[in-house]
Amino acid sequence: MNNTDPFPGDNLEINTSLEEKLEKILPLVEKPGRYVGGEYNSIIKDWNNISTKVALVFPDIYDIGVSNLGLQIFYERINQLNDCLAERSYSPWIDMESQLRKYKIPLYSLETKTPLKKFDILGITLPYESLYTNALNLLNLAQIPIRSIDRGLGFPLVISGGHATYNPEPMAPFIDAFLIGEGEEIFLELISTYQIWKSKNQPKIDLLNKISHIDGVYVPAFYEPQYYENGIFSNLLLKNKKSPKIITKRIMGKLPYSPTHFIVPSISVVHNRIPVEIMRGCTRGCRFCHAGMINRPIRERDVNEIVDTIEKALDNTGFEEIALLSLSSSDYTNILELVNQISDRFSKRNLTISLPSLRIETFSIELMEKLKGSRQGGFTLAPEAASDRMRGIINKPISEELLLSTAYEIFKCGWTTLKLYFMIGHPSETLEDVAEIASLCKKVLAEGHKAIGKRAKVHAGVSTFVPKPHTPFQWVSCDQPDLIRQKQNILREALKGRGFKLNWTDPKETMMEAWLSRGDRKMAEVIETAWKNGAKFDAWQDFKNYDIWMQAFTENDLDPYFYVHRERDLKEIFPWEHIFPGVRKTYLKTEYLNSMSMKLRGDCRQQCYACGITQTFNHLREEDPGIIWKCPNLVTKRRANELSLSN
Ligand code: SF4
Repeated sequence: MNNTDPFPGDNLEINTSLEEKLEKILPLVEKPGRYVGGEYNSIIKDWNNISTKVALVFPDIYDIGVSNLGLQIFYERINQLNDCLAERSYSPWIDMESQLRKYKIPLYSLETKTPLKKFDILGITLPYESLYTNALNLLNLAQIPIRSIDRGLGFPLVISGGHATYNPEPMAPFIDAFLIGEGEEIFLELISTYQIWKSKNQPKIDLLNKISHIDGVYVPAFYEPQYYENGIFSNLLLKNKKSPKIITKRIMGKLPYSPTHFIVPSISVVHNRIPVEIMRGCTRGCRFCHAGMINRPIRERDVNEIVDTIEKALDNTGFEEIALLSLSSSDYTNILELVNQISDRFSKRNLTISLPSLRIETFSIELMEKLKGSRQGGFTLAPEAASDRMRGIINKPISEELLLSTAYEIFKCGWTTLKLYFMIGHPSETLEDVAEIASLCKKVLAEGHKAIGKRAKVHAGVSTFVPKPHTPFQWVSCDQPDLIRQKQNILREALKGRGFKLNWTDPKETMMEAWLSRGDRKMAEVIETAWKNGAKFDAWQDFKNYDIWMQAFTENDLDPYFYVHRERDLKEIFPWEHIFPGVRKTYLKTEYLNSMSMKLRGDCRQQCYACGITQTFNHLREEDPGIIWKCPNLVTKRRANELSLSN
């Protein structure tokens, strides 16, 4: 059935309240707890006495979305405002969607069961591209027109943010405004602009106009992409001359407070834990890494602040697992001190501490000893490549010797399974490079055998590289699906033996990720067509439907090859260039050229390579001096004058 097929209304009368309708349909769906709210720490404010209502929406099922840290941050922060409330909604699973459509029940918020269309602002989190069709489906289920142009004053302002919106163009016609970068301040600024506008009874265009002047807000309706005859993007025409040509991401000079009143789900979900962000940004400079480029600079939280946050969150939730989150947790300057303090302060609570992202270079046996209590589930390292040549190309120089000795220690410490993450398809990769992944896995298993005998296991997770916007590899093309399969077969053949397990990404899934992340605004037509023809839950194995997508390309006379397999000229202008993450294109280009000669760049905390971040955001750093920023200090003329005056 297509997503937009109308369902016949059944015999639940129009006048039946939403709550009464839910009572009838919830017994018919799996895990009704996903749709009822009322969880511990959920916040219900007086709808009638609050002027501004915000719906925070995660376009995947409750089980995944409820533990999303970004959504939790905004939920707590907005609800702290006296004149605002925030409620939540998630994508209903297929069975619930059928019931909602059957009885024409609009998608609603969990807290007060209010239809999403009645909110003032609807914020959709888009952390990854495979949620695009879910976002459209969610709007449709909420009985809100999916296209911005069709939403008049009677509908909420639809905004979006998250990693996937650093290339907003594929979703541009559907979203009124994108919040680019860290949203803690910008969201609140947008709300207060909305409140002023609402008090004056002005048309929607005035609202769009006003919010387009907030730093970091991109209103796509004011920009019109232009293309050369061959279909390549040429430039973005400003339809509103006052709109900014470049939208620079927003960041926080000092990391804002961490939430401590996490929602405690009443049903089993993917993560029942307290996520604490210990730092933002990464300075390792892996050339394929989107998150590493767009989240610069590194800003760390203070150890005491983190431990206090954990204490409050434990008291408020009763969770027993702490996840210390960052792009590279073992790079956090005081990681040992932090883990020690947590272990000491909460020794009676039987806590599990997880550090989801560990760098092999900064990982120590001492830290491993501290994490012993969290042994279930295996230990994870991400070498990404196995040959020295590829390590030079991607700028992840991990010596094999160090990897093997670390693996030995991990097994020796009591873990029986070591998970290794690799990525195939990096620029210039050969079949020999791929074969080295298998050889490395065998050497690691041999270390395991030495340490703990035949109980040792190696699980290799092999994803496929997608050249993401705003990275040094944004100019390169993706491997063709046949070549990806050939590479995967090499690994399948080589890692058949006892002790190995291999996971890989379906090449079709990689193609989808590539064309969605690299698309221009024309891609929006493909997304809409694919969604109308049934595409949704594109990240879910059971729902992948490549044929629907290929058909959508054909219907819109577009070629997926053009987006995915075309190597870009160095002079090409990308459709995402009006979004500026603070890292300059010239730096990315230099890094791309460095990759071809396998030139390594070290951790830029030791030596700055002038990526542009410090220059772009130095004013914030000066406002908030201290040791939290890890970029080497840049002393501007103004600062130098201030310093000499104060001396
Ligand atoms: S400004 Fe320098 S130190 Fe900071 S992220 Fe960029 S390259 Fe690294």
